[in-house]
Amino acid sequence: MNFENNLAFAQALDQQDILREMRNEYLFPQQNGKPFIYLCGNSLGLQPKVAREVLEVQLNNWQNLAVEGWFEGNSPWMFYHKELKKLMAPIVGAKPAEVCPMNTLTVNLHLLMVSFYQPKAKRFKIIMEAGAFPSDQYAIESQVRFHGFDPKDAIIEVKPKEGEYTLRTEDIVKAIDDNAEEIALVLFGGINYFTGQWFDMPAITKAGHKAGAIVGFDLAHAAGNVPLQLHNWGVDFACWCSYKYQNAGPGGISGIFVHEKHFNTPLNRFAGWWGYNEAQRFKMEKGFIPEAGADGWQVSCTQVMPMALYHASLQLFKKAGFMDALRTKSKTLTAYLFYVINQLNTKLGEEQFKIITPQTEDDRGAQVSIIAKANGKKIFDELVVNNVLGDWREPNVIRLSPVPMYNSFEDVYRTGELLLTISQSIA
Ligand SMILES: *Cc1c(COP(=O)(O)O)cnc(C)c1O
Repeated sequence: MNFENNLAFAQALDQQDILREMRNEYLFPQQNGKPFIYLCGNSLGLQPKVAREVLEVQLNNWQNLAVEGWFEGNSPWMFYHKELKKLMAPIVGAKPAEVCPMNTLTVNLHLLMVSFYQPKAKRFKIIMEAGAFPSDQYAIESQVRFHGFDPKDAIIEVKPKEGEYTLRTEDIVKAIDDNAEEIALVLFGGINYFTGQWFDMPAITKAGHKAGAIVGFDLAHAAGNVPLQLHNWGVDFACWCSYKYQNAGPGGISGIFVHEKHFNTPLNRFAGWWGYNEAQRFKMEKGFIPEAGADGWQVSCTQVMPMALYHASLQLFKKAGFMDALRTKSKTLTAYLFYVINQLNTKLGEEQFKIITPQTEDDRGAQVSIIAKANGKKIFDELVVNNVLGDWREPNVIRLSPVPMYNSFEDVYRTGELLLTISQSIA
């Protein structure tokens, strides 16, 4: 598409956008009586307007039914997660039996590693991206120690080439091939939180399996952002949070994926009563018998309030047609932000803003990470003062996420204009 850097053009794109009404389903934070242009959905998605109501429904159930709410009412809590599984499956490209909402993300990463990181004397290494989200680094490090290995020996980090910010697929595959005999687990982010790079998940999965390793993904920045095919790609396991692109609220419930090929393998797990075979759960007997599928990884009883929020948010994904239309809009919206930033550099006569997110649209989602040549933090602060909310990542990156669910082309255009004004006034 030939973009133009003017308001009329941006508004025309909004007119043609079949998802343009979706933003009316969300609440935008305000400052001085004006809504923010919100470009921070990669960190915490906006509140669906219906959120308050669905919480109220559950508060009423609790009030009116109390303990009977587990089995009575129009959505008994005992089976509440089943509705969610149906809505989660199309987000990550799984069968409903392969997904389950539970706990929070890092907790699930640990629980899944208990099952899927089974180091042996010779095959004990984990391969991951350098610069992974810190929580993942700590989780992996501590799992390695838990098994009596030294992270220095057991963790292989794939780094970008000198002078580059993102990883090349051939380097990831080569690292896997080179260490094929020793790798127990390949564990990558789906999308890197810092650069916004969407890794070639099918290629990584294929290479990991060829090496004889298990392959898992942390999809915190990918789920609800880009279309995924976890089942078809043969990914062994994955987990994600629901509060970034999936708008389920701070500390929202996490989701797990376990490929059905693992359903009948006896796997180590840290069990709890909620993972016990559902039909016999309340016999309260000794000896753990897992429920079939991903549900067998549940530990504690259903977190009804966070699940109600996730359910409400996923209904809006359903309304948007799940990932197809969202992805189509997202590609154009993010490409427009690239264009606007490049125009800005041209007008300023130098590369004031360096984009470190991949240039090719298949290698990125709805995030653009930029490094300002100078005054990065000052520029970021000025954006906020002027009602544009992105986020700042030390040491020098501004992340802007135009989210197709609720951002418009006008949002992107106005952000570019503001960046220009700020740059000219600071310089
Ligand atoms: C956001 C994010 C987390 C956060 O984990 P919580 O347990 O939900 O606090 C972990 N890993 C990655 C890759 C993330 O992007």
